Amino acid sequence: MHMTRSNHGEMACQAARGPARSAIVIGAGVVGLASAYALARRGLAVTVIESRAAPGCEASFANGAQLSYAYSDALASPALLRHVPAVLLGLDPAVRFKPSLDPDHLGWLLRFLRNTSASRFMANTLEALRLGLESQAALHALLERHPLDFSHAAAGKVHLHANAESLAAARQVVAAKAALGARQEVLTPAEAVQLEPALAGHGPFAGAIYTPGDEVGDPHRFCAKLAALLAADYGTVLRLGTTVQDLGEERGEAWVRTSTGERIAADQIVICAGIGAAGLARRFGLRGVLMPIKGYSFTAPAGPAELRVSVTDVARKIVLCRLGDKVRVAGLAEIGARSAAVDPAALERLRQGAQASLPGVADYDRIGPGWAGIRPMTANCLPRIERVSARCAVNIGHGMLGWTHAMGSAERLAKVIMEKVA
Ligand SMILES: Cc1cc2nc3c(=O)[nH]c(=O)nc-3n(C[C@H](O)[C@H](O)[C@H](O)COP(=O)(O)OP(=O)(O)OC[C@H]3O[C@@H](n4cnc5c(N)ncnc54)[C@H](O)[C@@H]3O)c2cc1C
Repeated sequence: MHMTRSNHGEMACQAARGPARSAIVIGAGVVGLASAYALARRGLAVTVIESRAAPGCEASFANGAQLSYAYSDALASPALLRHVPAVLLGLDPAVRFKPSLDPDHLGWLLRFLRNTSASRFMANTLEALRLGLESQAALHALLERHPLDFSHAAAGKVHLHANAESLAAARQVVAAKAALGARQEVLTPAEAVQLEPALAGHGPFAGAIYTPGDEVGDPHRFCAKLAALLAADYGTVLRLGTTVQDLGEERGEAWVRTSTGERIAADQIVICAGIGAAGLARRFGLRGVLMPIKGYSFTAPAGPAELRVSVTDVARKIVLCRLGDKVRVAGLAEIGARSAAVDPAALERLRQGAQASLPGVADYDRIGPGWAGIRPMTANCLPRIERVSARCAVNIGHGMLGWTHAMGSAERLAKVIMEKVA
């Protein structure tokens, strides 16, 4: 029988009586490990199940490293809508589209396009800001308890706007965010260069938005350190190299079946499987919720112009930041991507774009092999953090901002799991 989401809601009310004592978290990326921490800290016995041999090896591996708490602007925006013809013709250097006749893919695209209206863009951006500010508080609370080393720095962030129209639109968003407590400043080009002298190497631009509170950190190192902390201090069991093939619930417990046929049971399951969640969550009625959006990064030796703050070149959709003694550069969005393999031509586009934007900040002749990852994106660019059945919840769809939102999403998820259903 096909189970609707309201069926599941009723089952939730009937079956989940009393607080959970144990949980299985599927996925050891930033979202899964943050979720495991939020649950373990509340006293649950947590088992994390991860396909890969180590934590943080998929989308959380070498992303842009930005903790963009206040720069929360949704990808679905009026500005992107204006670029749709160029995207469809393959002429946009930053955003590409892989068409598909899959009804789930088409349904997602229609919902995404509806979210590009000015009012939805603003609502989605402000909701992401709320989650960002919660995430900042949650990460800082974690670091006060456990000072993890992951090249974390409060670098601040500058968004460069090439033309007056783009800057004027950004100014409106700054004003709306200020009402929610975000601190951002609009800078002239001269003020921006004074703040970050490396911007002197950039061509003419109209102005910049400065967000002093935004941070950076290495997500892969964070995953490794948090996984080790969970195992050592919280008794969390990490099952690496183990793939969940099936999951369900019966007779008062939730269970997963692994690819080797092992059955593991707990009071609750949380799906945090990045783009892998698309298949796992389908049985709960969540179809076509996630679109794979591929992006690229490279990590190069620092160049002669020292980068002090993170920089986003808005027109080129490229982020550059100092990460330890290296420079991390990330960008590109391939909507509907089918694999995470590195396409050398796309990596070269990213390299050339970054070099044209800020020529002196990295040694662009030594970018290494580069990396590509898949952002699991919802149509409104906001994650889904909710119960989908009596004993299963999801924390999925973090798209462009999963590193930023991991800790706050985990706190929201823990509230969902700890709610005693009457
Ligand atoms: C190029 C690029 C740049 C980015 N830059 C930024 C940035 O600067 N700031 C920011 O906030 N965000 C950024 N992001 C987005 C961010 O990286 C993602 O949103 C985030 O990593 C998603 O985390 P996750 O834990 O949900 O997914 P993942 O990190 O993909 O983790 C999911 C895990 O689940 C495991 N898994 C999947 N299926 C199964 C299964 N059946 N059984 C067991 N395990 C399973 C996978 O192996 C994986 O380890 C960027 C992404 C990309 C690609």
